[in-house]
Amino acid sequence: MFDELPVSSKTERILTKSLDEDISVEEANHLMNIRGSEIHPLLATADFLRHQIVGDNVTFINNCNINFTNICTVRCGFCAFGKDADDPDAYILNDEQILEKADGAASNGAREFTLMGGVHPDADMDYYLHLLNLLKDNYPDVSIHGFSPTMIRDACLASGMDVAEGFEMLKSAGLDTLPGTAAEILTDRSREIICPEKVSVAEWIDTVKAAQEVGIKGSATIMYGHVETMEERVEHIDIIRSIQQETGGFTEFIPMTFMHEFSPIFLEGQKNLGATGTQDLKLYAVSRLMLRDLIPNIQVSWVKMGFRFAQVVLTAGANDLGGTLGGDELSEASGAPDGVDASIETLSRMVKDLGRNPIERNSTYTEFYDI
Ligand code: SF4
Repeated sequence: MFDELPVSSKTERILTKSLDEDISVEEANHLMNIRGSEIHPLLATADFLRHQIVGDNVTFINNCNINFTNICTVRCGFCAFGKDADDPDAYILNDEQILEKADGAASNGAREFTLMGGVHPDADMDYYLHLLNLLKDNYPDVSIHGFSPTMIRDACLASGMDVAEGFEMLKSAGLDTLPGTAAEILTDRSREIICPEKVSVAEWIDTVKAAQEVGIKGSATIMYGHVETMEERVEHIDIIRSIQQETGGFTEFIPMTFMHEFSPIFLEGQKNLGATGTQDLKLYAVSRLMLRDLIPNIQVSWVKMGFRFAQVVLTAGANDLGGTLGGDELSEASGAPDGVDASIETLSRMVKDLGRNPIERNSTYTEFYDI
């Protein structure tokens, strides 16, 4: 495969090995740092593995983001969405406003509500249970992908219960899957700079495992391109790989490239402009090589990359386009290049142009629907 390509013997050895077995952290670090034309064989290998593992379907879900509040006590350095409670732009949706959003999405065929927001100072377990009951009472057939490990850990503390007990209650109230947000970069060094108030690495791992133990599967994410090193990107993916080997509880892996323009750390003078295009491609390709069929679904965040580059990333090992979203205000606040709503037709066009098959899915990749 590599005979005609400009590739070093070390890169060739690692790529050849990756076709049949796991690559090590050291080998992943080598791939993450290759430059120039060597990138092409890496992308081709990741795309080949994607084809072997999940075939040529590209999935996405008809979903709707309901960002119930932007009031947040955590205030991460990368986030342009969270606001102090006394900020003139601060809000919290009431029941009527939440149902209005849900109603619009459900009448448009939404299969999932994504409940995400800030870490509100008054949000305890009763508040999150209320949101679930409100939506499940009115839309029992729409699955709920909701909350973050930080929110749930804080709410359990506020309500005087342990995390396992909290997830049992959330599951009974209708929480179907847990977004793997708040992971950002799973090294305490980086977290101390970008999100010191969030759960630590150990707490994030403990929280997602507690959810998975009661049967709430969920996504794993990485938010990269800010203050972390290349080695920390690999370290993060390796942590996700280890958890999945132990629990099998992740439904997908979602790399999210840092959008610097409106982030507090950028506005305060931190000069990192985010990952470059080839860094994005290498992140996806190395993720495919490290996760292989252990986490078969690797999702492109078109809302962060824009439609055109998201389509290119589908040739670097990814097989899922996320969702139609229906208003992701966190990404909108960060400057989403192509907006935060996509029609099924828009996503399908990108996929068909690659010669692949657009397929709608449910939250857990267990049901698929022809378009
Ligand atoms: S990323 Fe989430 S927790 Fe962090 S400031 Fe934004 S809304 Fe708050």
